[in-house]
Amino acid sequence: MTHSTASAPSTPVVARTGEELQALRPKLGRLALVPTMGALHAGHRSLIAAAREHAESVAVSIFVNPLQFGPNEDYDRYPRTFDADLAACAEEGVDVVFAPTVKDMYPDAGPDGIGQIVTVDPGSMGRVLEGEFRPGFFQGVLTVVNKLFNLVRPDVAVFGQKDAQQVAVVRRMVRDLCLPVTILSAPTVRDPDGLATSSRNVYLSPEERTSALALSRALFAGADAAPSGPAAVLAAAGAVLGEAAHATPPVSVDYLALVDPATFTEVDGDYRGEAVLAVAAWVGETRLIDNVPLTL
Ligand code: AMP
Repeated sequence: MTHSTASAPSTPVVARTGEELQALRPKLGRLALVPTMGALHAGHRSLIAAAREHAESVAVSIFVNPLQFGPNEDYDRYPRTFDADLAACAEEGVDVVFAPTVKDMYPDAGPDGIGQIVTVDPGSMGRVLEGEFRPGFFQGVLTVVNKLFNLVRPDVAVFGQKDAQQVAVVRRMVRDLCLPVTILSAPTVRDPDGLATSSRNVYLSPEERTSALALSRALFAGADAAPSGPAAVLAAAGAVLGEAAHATPPVSVDYLALVDPATFTEVDGDYRGEAVLAVAAWVGETRLIDNVPLTL
């Protein structure tokens, strides 16, 4: 689909159902999909820009997926800002916004649950780090990503390195299930103070936001220590987080881990090569994740 860059941004076509999307699909040519849960920020915009470079048309999906939230997580209070999201998509030249309802994505949804019987099992990759602390999370992610791929039929899908384990698990699903889509990832976008942009940052009070800066500080300290090997990386990052545990308000770490980027298994002491240093921590009631790629 072509669109003018000289005039004011045109509003993307909004598709609410798979059928609406199928009707549009032949006109879209080579299509890139950016899956999101909305509350779009600079990180999402960078994925859209990357998507533009790899396709004739760009679709953004906006769907807060109930299947990936645990019973005590923030599904109900997750920010929903559809009008602002649509405006952001218009500014970024998005062609189609796919914004289904829960009932569209999970036709058997009802008062007792969403009624999904068959799901995608992430295997061992779904049980470590995020998967350990959020049981069922990657099963929910892979199931909805699979549905989105089948409904949107993109040639390319773009994910953020901000959720590095998610990219790795999605890549593995595509490989293990022979899905006809190319997965691309784009670097993490940060605010000038280092905090990775996230839809959940709106939950943070000013004091919590200051404490939350310890995550990126820890990761950068770890990355600086990369020439000295895995133990030095974990020690440098751990020292920053150890101090942050005594900040006001404190930072409470779920995990800090140095992992193989493809499998997300922890690397051993003499590992050399590409790695990801990943952290998840609570600041007040908000759980944040972040990571940096590094070379050992
Ligand atoms: P979400 O809406 O949080 O599910 O995120 C949708 C996509 O945006 C995922 O592929 C995320 O990894 C990506 N994303 C979120 N935050 C950032 C960021 N700060 N930089 C780059 N990509 C991001």
